[in-house]
Amino acid sequence: MSVTVRLRVLDDGAWISVNDQRKVSVSELWRVSAADFCSCELVDFVVENFQAVSVNGRTIEVIVYGQCIACGATGETEWLPVGRIIDGEFTVFDQSAVRHTYESGNPEINSG
Ligand SMILES: [Zn+2]
Repeated sequence: MSVTVRLRVLDDGAWISVNDQRKVSVSELWRVSAADFCSCELVDFVVENFQAVSVNGRTIEVIVYGQCIACGATGETEWLPVGRIIDGEFTVFDQSAVRHTYESGNPEINSG
């Protein structure tokens, strides 16, 4: 059974809308484990612009443009989890949580 959720990027990437409500805004500081983004072990990532939003199972994922404040590297991330749908309601991840990038934008493959 799949979760029906309406996802949009609003205001030129300033907001993520979940079910027509603005839920996540830019300027948050995320801790991201992304070896391919910069040379930092853990990226202190300032979210500057949402590029895309998608749902993977119950997890809401985004591609964001931003900057590592430790080394100054800028760029787009891979898909990053931003929150989860629980009982039909969006629950945002705590900002202190370490997020792991993973290439989950592809549809899940049912191997039987
Ligand atoms: Zn860095």
